Amino acid sequence: MSDAPEPLRDVIARHGLQASKALGQNFILDRQLLARIAAIPGPLDGATVYEVGPGPGGLTRALLDTGAKVTAVERDRRCLPALAELDSAFPGKLTLIEGDALAIDEPATLGQGVHVVANLPYNVGTALLLRWLGGEAWPPWWASLSLMFQREVAERIVAKPGSDHYGRLAVASQWRSSASISMLVHRSSFVPPPKVMSAVVHLRPAPMPPGVSHAVLEKVTAAAFGQRRKMLRQSLKGMPGALDALATLNIDPSRRAETLSVEDFVEVARRLT
Ligand code: SAM
Repeated sequence: MSDAPEPLRDVIARHGLQASKALGQNFILDRQLLARIAAIPGPLDGATVYEVGPGPGGLTRALLDTGAKVTAVERDRRCLPALAELDSAFPGKLTLIEGDALAIDEPATLGQGVHVVANLPYNVGTALLLRWLGGEAWPPWWASLSLMFQREVAERIVAKPGSDHYGRLAVASQWRSSASISMLVHRSSFVPPPKVMSAVVHLRPAPMPPGVSHAVLEKVTAAAFGQRRKMLRQSLKGMPGALDALATLNIDPSRRAETLSVEDFVEVARRLT
């Protein structure tokens, strides 16, 4: 552990870090809460951690305190002097990248077995998650993802069939990963407070069902949930072989997408792969 750190409110004031709405900046200043978020992946001593959007560095410090080596990518160059101070407090443990997380080649930059921990900017969070969940190669470069989202997005990630939140994001998140909500975070925990509540979602890679292409599964769920109130017979009719696949699997084509399990979607995609 390092010496008692300066209150984050003072770090922000000293560096003039007025929160920018355009960059999705809602900072967490409570060190205890930040330590609880950093503990979600489990022990990180000696592990490689990737943080998107360190901002003034509160979560970054909590992660460094665990003994992890942290690589952090931040788009707002105003934050870099505050982050550079952390670099001096934890020599050799922090790698800072100034830039857009959407432009990072993660395996080339970070290697394998990486724990991703981030209080994501809301405007790019879902795009990043879908990218990290995508691709045909599995297991991925990440060993776990612990990500802050708006609560509504978190509920869509972990949703089960039959719920209003269940859709493409749930299938993409659950077909070869485990996904759970680790923590709800009240809006008053952020500066400035966002309009909605937040939650940290934790994902770990699971074995990938054999014989299924991620791209095909994506196409099936896009078609099925693109018209979620329609029967599958209608929503999948433009996809060659899809209705035959339903018949082979004894899935009634008058059902709607939200009633199919993740395994059902995987089976349909397997027959079209
Ligand atoms: N980690 C800090 C915390 O927990 O207090 C800040 C979190 S704030 C919700 C999101 C951060 O992501 C901001 O610092 C913002 O500048 C940064 N950011 C926004 N868009 C980004 C992008 N495309 N790539 C990298 N960082 C980005």
